Amino acid sequence: MSLRLYDTAARAVRDFTPLRAGRASVYVCGLTVQGPPHIGHVRSALAFDVLHRWLAESRYEVTYVRNFTDIDDKILAKAEAHGVPWWAWAYENERAVTRAYDALAVLPPTYEPRATGHIPEMVELMQRLIDRGHAYAVDGDVYFDVRSFPEYGALTGQKLDDLQPAADTETDDRKRDPRDFALWKAHKEGEPETAAWPTPWGAGRPGWHLECSAMVGRYLGSEFDIHGGGLDLRFPHHENEQAQSRAAGDAFARYWLHNGWVTLGGEKMSKSLGNTALVDEVVQRVRPVELRYYLIAPHYRSAIEFTDAALAESAAAYRRIESFVRRAAERVGSGGAAGRVGDAAGARVLCAEFSAALDDDLGTPAAVAVIHEIVRQGNTALSTGDEAAVAGALGSVRAMLGVLGLDPLDPRWSAGGSDERLSQVTDGLVSLALEQRQAARARKDFAAADAIRDQLTSLGVSVEDTPQGPRWELTR
Ligand SMILES: [Zn+2]
Repeated sequence: MSLRLYDTAARAVRDFTPLRAGRASVYVCGLTVQGPPHIGHVRSALAFDVLHRWLAESRYEVTYVRNFTDIDDKILAKAEAHGVPWWAWAYENERAVTRAYDALAVLPPTYEPRATGHIPEMVELMQRLIDRGHAYAVDGDVYFDVRSFPEYGALTGQKLDDLQPAADTETDDRKRDPRDFALWKAHKEGEPETAAWPTPWGAGRPGWHLECSAMVGRYLGSEFDIHGGGLDLRFPHHENEQAQSRAAGDAFARYWLHNGWVTLGGEKMSKSLGNTALVDEVVQRVRPVELRYYLIAPHYRSAIEFTDAALAESAAAYRRIESFVRRAAERVGSGGAAGRVGDAAGARVLCAEFSAALDDDLGTPAAVAVIHEIVRQGNTALSTGDEAAVAGALGSVRAMLGVLGLDPLDPRWSAGGSDERLSQVTDGLVSLALEQRQAARARKDFAAADAIRDQLTSLGVSVEDTPQGPRWELTR
């Protein structure tokens, strides 16, 4: 079986046939760096990180481009409100986003362009559109003429006649049609001079949609394989990207992929609604690897309703996998059969069901279910002392986790990290408390023994007495 992807434009699952054999070119709309990232933001990066990793694992030479939008109305407004230059505000938040991506093991893109670094490409694209009769300049603004392009609406299956102008569009007599969208915005009185770039039609700054088409052209050429982004970007952003590129004579994207939202209280997580969970806050409650698991285990097209209970449950599921990997590695060693046993060319050997799941539109729920099943078998092998079976399960599980960026023995999740040190100290302190409890019981001071247990419980450490002695685990 080979890779099949749900193409939003075709509204169907299609076989992935790349433009050039053995190569895959991908463009994903990145973030507008107006504030620190919440988990809805990083879900998109993680969804396409799974695509990136699976294409690479499937032996494609991948060119992956994800941009930063570093100039727009919100950035200008927030920078002004905070009394800092817009570019300083954008850069500070770009760094926060990059830190979040790194913390969650999102592979770096091949190229990560910023909108403001591609003004000449945007001017060139606007000139082409004007020359072909698909755009017009008025008072320094440049608009795309939607009526000039019969295909407008094709990406989202809408007819121009059914489309209403966006609710926030001001009536503007200078536009040929109220649905015409801005490619370029003329510099306005009171806006910083540093946010105005010269063009043949006057100084100004890019409209949001234009930048992605310009950067695609710069890094991937006139036609490329996969365009990705969040579901909310389908319209108008992606419709507009496709219209302006195709009207300019470029074939543009061959497949469109859209990831689902993270919702909170049933609403899309968004800064404007104020219902966000910032990445920095969530990684205080679960480890980054657990947040990664939480966000990639559901299918990328489904919505994730964020709740504390679901986050805790997901983290517990990851810890079951991790616990097997650590115990098995202690028993049979983490090398050998573990993770890196490959075919003659050195590739990982993956469970057929796991590969089939990812080939089927990146079906991570089925892929993760395969991992849990092998973990169950591995745990049985651990309890029966079948070391060959333990080694086999460990190798298989680590290979699959490696593909998803979730191998707990990967040094990136532990090497010298404060988490590791902290968990050693926690282990030591809980063991010390349990020894004192045993000592209290031995001298028949049951009140003291119970008090120790109650205090551990109140700290989120549950204790279970077994014939081999007390066992404990973190319950939250
Ligand atoms: Zn875009």
